[in-house]
Amino acid sequence: MKHDHDPRHLNLTALARERGELALAEHLGDFERLLQESGGLGTERPVRFSAHAEMRPDASGAEQVWLRLRADAVLPLVCQRCLGPAEIAVEVDRWLRFVATEEQAAAEDDASEEDVLVLSRAFDLLQLVEDEILMALPVAPMHGVCPQPVKLQAVDPDFVDAPEPKAHPFAVLEQFKKNRTQ
Ligand SMILES: [Zn+2]
Repeated sequence: MKHDHDPRHLNLTALARERGELALAEHLGDFERLLQESGGLGTERPVRFSAHAEMRPDASGAEQVWLRLRADAVLPLVCQRCLGPAEIAVEVDRWLRFVATEEQAAAEDDASEEDVLVLSRAFDLLQLVEDEILMALPVAPMHGVCPQPVKLQAVDPDFVDAPEPKAHPFAVLEQFKKNRTQ
C-alpha cells in the first residue's frame, strides 16, 4: 500500500513490484547539502520530487528494479556574474537501475545510459534527490540577464559636476568703472 512507503527507508523492490509512485514535497531546510549551496537561505522553499519504480527483465531475463526520479526546486543562489541574488530553477528527470552488488554497479554504470546503483533494503530516496539536484546545479549559477548593476552606475548625490565659476557681471562692471576713474 502506497502510504506504507517511507522515503527515507524505501523498499524499492516492493515499490517496483506494484509499479508504484511516490510523489512528495519537502522543504529545502530538510536537505543539509542544498542549504549549504544557498548559504542557509530559503529553508521553507519546496523541493518537489516523485519516484516511480518498476520491474524490467535484464538481458538474461532476471528482473531488475528501475526507478524514474523527477525533482524540481528553485534555489536562492548568488549570480557569479553580478554577485546579486539569483533564483536558480533546477529540474531532474532520470532513470536509475538497481543491481545486487557494488562490483556490478561499478562495472555497468559507465556502459549504461541510466545510472546504476546498488539495491538496498532501505533506500534513502531523499539522499538520492539531494545528490541528483546537486549534480544538476550549474557550476556557475547566473541570471539569464543580470539586473542593472545599480551599484556600479549610481551617481554619488554629493558629487555635482559643477561648472567653472564665472565672474559676476556686476563685479566685472565695478572693476571696469574703477579702472576708468583711475
Ligand atoms: Zn547576475
